[in-house]
Amino acid sequence: MAASLSIRVVFMPEVSHLEFLSGPVRFVKGIGPRRADVLSEAGVDTVRDLLQYYPRKYLDRTSVSAIKDVSSDSGPVTIIGTILTLKVIPGRRGRRFELVIEDEPGRRITCVWFKGVAWVSKVFEKDQLVAFHGRPQKYSGGISLPHPDFDVLDEEAPALATGRIIALYPGGASLSRVGLTSRSFRRTLFHLIKEHGERLQEVLPEGIQGKYNLLDGRVALRAVHFPKNEKELIRAIARLKFEELFFIQLMLARMKRDQTVEEGVVLETKDGLASRFIHDVLPFELTGSQTEAITDITRDTASGTRMNRLLQGDVGSGKTVVAVAAMLHAVDNGLQAVFMAPTEILAEQHFRNLLTYFEPLGVRVRLLLGGMKKSERSAILESLSSGDLPIVVGTHAIIQKDVSFKGLGMCIVDEQHRFGVMQRATLFKKGDRPHTLLMTATPIPRSLALTVYGDLDVSIMRDQPPGRQPIRTRLVWDRDRDSATEILRSECINGRQAYVVYPLVEESEKLDLKDAENGYEKLVAEFPDMTVDLIHGRMSSEQKESAMKKFVDGETQILVSTTVIEVGVDVSNATVMMIEHAERFGLSQLHQLRGRVGRGPHRSTCILIAHFKRSSEADERLRTMVETNDGFKISEVDLKLRGAGDFFGTRQSGLPDLKIADIVADTEILIQAREAAFELVAKDPNLDDPGNESLGAYFRAFYGREVMNLSRVG
Ligand code: ADP
Ligand code: MG
Repeated sequence: MAASLSIRVVFMPEVSHLEFLSGPVRFVKGIGPRRADVLSEAGVDTVRDLLQYYPRKYLDRTSVSAIKDVSSDSGPVTIIGTILTLKVIPGRRGRRFELVIEDEPGRRITCVWFKGVAWVSKVFEKDQLVAFHGRPQKYSGGISLPHPDFDVLDEEAPALATGRIIALYPGGASLSRVGLTSRSFRRTLFHLIKEHGERLQEVLPEGIQGKYNLLDGRVALRAVHFPKNEKELIRAIARLKFEELFFIQLMLARMKRDQTVEEGVVLETKDGLASRFIHDVLPFELTGSQTEAITDITRDTASGTRMNRLLQGDVGSGKTVVAVAAMLHAVDNGLQAVFMAPTEILAEQHFRNLLTYFEPLGVRVRLLLGGMKKSERSAILESLSSGDLPIVVGTHAIIQKDVSFKGLGMCIVDEQHRFGVMQRATLFKKGDRPHTLLMTATPIPRSLALTVYGDLDVSIMRDQPPGRQPIRTRLVWDRDRDSATEILRSECINGRQAYVVYPLVEESEKLDLKDAENGYEKLVAEFPDMTVDLIHGRMSSEQKESAMKKFVDGETQILVSTTVIEVGVDVSNATVMMIEHAERFGLSQLHQLRGRVGRGPHRSTCILIAHFKRSSEADERLRTMVETNDGFKISEVDLKLRGAGDFFGTRQSGLPDLKIADIVADTEILIQAREAAFELVAKDPNLDDPGNESLGAYFRAFYGREVMNLSRVG
């Protein structure tokens, strides 16, 4: 047994390395089944996960205060001392726990707890070396630290605790309940790295290490947990960030490569429907961006490989026209096309637009929604599978099992981030490698685009159709709302229309609906000579459609709604977007809503009604809205405020879980990692050239299966 093991170690070092990394954390010295269960909840299942359980911060002893210098107006301080006495003291208003520490002989301070006494009194022992962090206060004649953060330092591994920089690990109640404190993480990791460190391997090829001046992987892993000095720590972190981003980019590079070798049906440009649509039907000239995007699409679809393109353009940039041209291009080549939208209202509006575009061309189109009459639905399905119907628009209803096509050649997904990976995959499987055009009105910062859309071709629509006037945005406090009502009134008197939007928070849908209903009744009373209507998510789709239609037709002047009108609704005579409780909306949502106006020749206004109770983040969102109309700028602020994980709102967004890198802050490293990964895949797509074996084995072991977690689907 021992012999065969050592043979494997000698001849297949990478197997031993990978087996070691994927070994269950339960068997690591100092862990055991109970702690392993708790760790698993924190996402730590394997040795590799444990090694990548990176410190949340570091305690630098040079920033530690001496007790003799601490006073009640020092502000927050960190001190390190030895515990002299500890005692629970009964009192009139309850017990408290006091602990006296000393750093130099005679220099003492008291730490005191009034809450959690039973628990905290069991944590410490006399003579322990402990770091405390807190805000000193005057206390019974002396100075104390009430309820400080603390970290018991390793008395049994003095080399670790007396180093200049000490790692502190992410904690939490369930971890500390099983004794997983920073101290035990340090102890466990110290032994793990000391006993098994030689089983670790460098996975990055030498060339990449040299070119980007990276610290050796093994050194970096040791140093991130036990840095010798600050300089080493900084290099270790940089190396580990690079590595983390590099492997994600490697996945993307390989996916993109797979797609470019994936065949796609060749679409020829004909003097057909697409060209008649652009030249005879459209009442306007294409913008430069639209022309470029259409050129991209005709080039992609003529290339013989499958198109997988993202169309990114701010609200109102005219993406629909591009989508229509793409669909007609497929129809010109005898294929079918589908246009999928995330909401019924949006699908209905696209449908109405297509009807007017297609009428003069004699192209048939149908609308497919959930909850349709059976007979109506089966008629549509029948004509899709027979190939009679060239184009269908709809919601998720399109990806139901029983929907099939004779020859689906083009898939358009509007507001694509609102769909999950699997939903998009299901749609694409309804054809034989159909060309796909994903559309988004959420401009995203470059760093995110490189990660989330890293395997796609992207067309960006920067110019807006001509003749638009920039939208004015006003922030109005609730108590000054009369001024907002005045704007509403004067616009409506001039023949314009207005939206009044109320937030919809899922948990309290009833309450929000009541808000909107009350607002609606008030407006009805305030504007007796106008038609005010209400639209909300609890109405049937027929009711919603008829309310929308009345607004589109100009019968309704003021449309009160919950956020069901969020995307895509297009009424060019609407010039006021009044958003109630604007402080409750996210930035991209506010920007989307504002994009509902300013779509015609008239100057439009967006009024943000804000209530008194709001966070500083909400303040920054509102300020940003007032300052800029630029979707890209707004997305940068949004990303900064929310962090990458929340940026798209769902876990399905395709953003990988990052343990050390930060997509926003580490853009520079990201760009280098991307360059390295794409260069490597271009030279060695299967990652098995000499010098890349270790990398290839590691990649296959830990990234092979995660491809589906990324947003793109081939
Ligand atoms: P979005 O990119 O937000 O989906 P739409 O496709 O809904 O934008 O277009 C917004 C509005 O601009 C629509 O009313 C559309 O008819 C109009 N539009 C699109 N392209 C042009 C153009 N080249 N010139 C003038 N108006 C245009
Ligand atoms: Mg749109």
